[in-house]
Amino acid sequence: MVTVTLLGSAQDGGVPQVGCNCCIHLQRRYPVSIGLIDSDGRNHLFEATRNLGEQLRIWGVDSVDSLFLTHAHFGHVDGLGLFGRETMNARGVSLHCSKKMLDLIERTPNWSILLSQGVFSPSTEPIVNLPGVIVEAIEVPHRAELSDMHAYLIKAEKTLLFLPDHDTWQETLREHDLRSWLSHLEVDIALIDGTFYSANELKHRNQEDVPHPPVEQTLQMLGERRDGDPEVIFIHLNHTNPLCSDDTPVSELGWRVGCEGDLFNLT
Ligand SMILES: [Zn+2]
Ligand SMILES: [Zn+2]
Ligand SMILES: [Zn+2]
Repeated sequence: MVTVTLLGSAQDGGVPQVGCNCCIHLQRRYPVSIGLIDSDGRNHLFEATRNLGEQLRIWGVDSVDSLFLTHAHFGHVDGLGLFGRETMNARGVSLHCSKKMLDLIERTPNWSILLSQGVFSPSTEPIVNLPGVIVEAIEVPHRAELSDMHAYLIKAEKTLLFLPDHDTWQETLREHDLRSWLSHLEVDIALIDGTFYSANELKHRNQEDVPHPPVEQTLQMLGERRDGDPEVIFIHLNHTNPLCSDDTPVSELGWRVGCEGDLFNLT
């Protein structure tokens, strides 16, 4: 059996977010992460968040055989140190990321020590063959101050797309429309960027600083779910996103908002 479990459904800051009262009463959400178990029962984690402890408990595992990273924004990598001597004291965990991401890890003393101590064994191969499942990195445009950004296609009998962050549909899709892109990639389950519901959600700061396609726009592009459509699940929710407490606009069209513990069977 090959399964993927959603371990975190929030944007990098989590919900509730530090220094904010708007979201204090909302159900807790961890920074985005998923866990893949291959057909040999080995555990592959996507993203290293500071809530790794809670997330492994949700996943029901106590060790990680390999780690895949999408990009260097802080909520996706701030748990890297938890693999080290002070905490898990892991050894030889395969670390899959892009060349630019690995270059940043090598140049960052707090992370490069994890390589020299043998905590991680890095690999920058874009296609990784695991028992019963293939993981393929696909580059997508996203604010690249620190590293590039790769979504992942996880291909077993069913294919799952993990696309937590990107800037605009226009740049990501290029010549495709959203539906034809998903069917071109043969996606059955799409976990996609649902950071903001609308384009003017950040009242006190410039939303252009943190571009993401608003869910409203994605819903317009998708329309209503029809027979044979993939499942589309919105993840990476910002604490300001009304979908954190009410998923009606998404569910009434037949799509979903992700929650910690959601389980997807790929075989
Ligand atoms: Zn993010
Ligand atoms: Zn808030
Ligand atoms: Zn990001």
